[in-house]
Amino acid sequence: MNITILCIDDERLILLSLRDQLTRIFGSDYTIALAESGEEALAVLSDLEESQVTVPVVICDQVMPKLSGDRLLSQIHALYPQTRTVLLTGLAQLDHVVYAVNNANLYRYLSKPWNEIDLELTVREAIRSYLQDQQLMFQNAALSQANRQLAVLNNSLEQQVEQRTAELREQAAALLISKEAAEVANRAKSEFLANMSHEIRTPMTAILGFTQLLEMSNLDDQQQEYVQRITRSGENLLSIINDILDLSKLEAGKLELESTEFVLADLIYNLTGIFQPQAIAKGLRFSAIVAPEVPPRFVDSANRLVQVLTNLLSNAIKFTAAGRVTLKVEVEQTLEQDNQVVLRFSVEDNGIGITPTDQSRIFEPFTQVDTSSTRQYEGTGLGLTICRKIVQLMNGKIGVESTFGQGSTFWFTIALKQSQRSKSTASNSTSVHPDSLISPTAVGSKTRILVVEDNEFNQQLIIRMLKYLGYSADVVSNGQEALTQLATCTYDIVLMDCQMPILDGYETARLFRQDQDLHQQTVIIGLTAHAMVGDRNKCLEVGMDDYISKPIKLEVLKTRLEYWIGSRAEA
Ligand code: ADP
Repeated sequence: MNITILCIDDERLILLSLRDQLTRIFGSDYTIALAESGEEALAVLSDLEESQVTVPVVICDQVMPKLSGDRLLSQIHALYPQTRTVLLTGLAQLDHVVYAVNNANLYRYLSKPWNEIDLELTVREAIRSYLQDQQLMFQNAALSQANRQLAVLNNSLEQQVEQRTAELREQAAALLISKEAAEVANRAKSEFLANMSHEIRTPMTAILGFTQLLEMSNLDDQQQEYVQRITRSGENLLSIINDILDLSKLEAGKLELESTEFVLADLIYNLTGIFQPQAIAKGLRFSAIVAPEVPPRFVDSANRLVQVLTNLLSNAIKFTAAGRVTLKVEVEQTLEQDNQVVLRFSVEDNGIGITPTDQSRIFEPFTQVDTSSTRQYEGTGLGLTICRKIVQLMNGKIGVESTFGQGSTFWFTIALKQSQRSKSTASNSTSVHPDSLISPTAVGSKTRILVVEDNEFNQQLIIRMLKYLGYSADVVSNGQEALTQLATCTYDIVLMDCQMPILDGYETARLFRQDQDLHQQTVIIGLTAHAMVGDRNKCLEVGMDDYISKPIKLEVLKTRLEYWIGSRAEA
């Protein structure tokens, strides 16, 4: 910074001595400018200002012709308020000092003759305080600039926040509206699915049931073939409907896993009961092998496990022309956590096999390897997609190993929660006796059964199925009639349709279980065409003991009846 000290005195000699002293004190640090009159001083200051030279201090003699020192300093102060003013004056001139203090913001006065050290200290201090003020001024200016910028920023920030808040509020409101609309649509969809399922299953129950009975009557070969075609098409139609319903539920995240306590051997036994006859009909050997270390009882989603196994087993039988189909259950790993055990289920066949390229595609929806116009095998191509989604929902893994032309092994591993109860109460829990399923039993005749069913076709169907299995039964058409009947007669088993007019099956079961006078040993098996998640729990909650989904399979009806008759005999 270029700094100049201005000295003003009309006496040239004093002026020069002042300059010499200051040069001696400050050396070349500062420039010393001289003026011999007030006018000259003002002109010098103006020039210096133009050249942007800093003048922190002006030393001025008081006694000068024309413009006295105090007046000159007050003018300089008016023009350059920061510049420190120092007056050189005699002792007797105190009133000038007072004037200069009041009008020129006099920094100091030096009495003539001044002391050199006094002069040095005064000038040094004046320059230091001037520079300090200057620095403070710069800082202040920078601070106010920053403050202004901050205020602008704050303003725009506040505006932005307000704008964003308004936008978010609008978005939240729009989201709420669409969420509510989606929930309404979802509820409508679930209701539609439940109703559609019921609507389709009710006539299908009759169609499939009667064709099952027809197949058992005396038909000639051609009639047998026609009936078998009806059965096969009906079953296909039903499985397509089930697949589509399941997939839409899985995709909507609506498929819930219902935990129930089950005996694994029972589950395998029931599956064997369904698939062994199919395998035998095709000339295949079917076996189910459960490794001895597999625990007996679990609390988990049995119906979903059955669904996956059913899909894999029916594929294995479908795609195998000769040879065998084997279902294996082994322990993969025992987990400390939650008393869980990872089971590996595998379904082996020596059927047509799958090429490596196709193996990576078949789990995708609607994928079938055989897409020729003369398709040999029926199906929707949804089965494996559903299996994979269910296994994933149960936190498991699914896969396939296959050699084209030789056979396939579909496997999945899932962690199942073991039941705390160690001993099974079911009669057939520890071993699988598939052969016992082929012929009807004789115990049936003594069992008292009541059928509660409003649909006339289904009434006849169930009665005939029971008759075929060796049982007889009474029939009533609604819950009201059932309660009247149950009040006078004792039954071992009630087969109770759930959806009925007047008094539905749930309410009937609840009222029956409430009445202490009625025979509480009676087993109630719910029959429902809804097949929606929650049905089973709903049945058990109102006091039913079991649940059979429509359309009723002869084998399932047989197995459940035998199970309950067996349990009652044990009790
Ligand atoms: P769908 O059986 O209804 O066609 P899936 O999703 O169950 O549908 O199976 C998809 C395809 O995977 C089948 O069409 C078939 O080509 C192939 N596939 C499934 N299981 C087997 C198997 N055990 N052996 C040979 N191919 C199979």
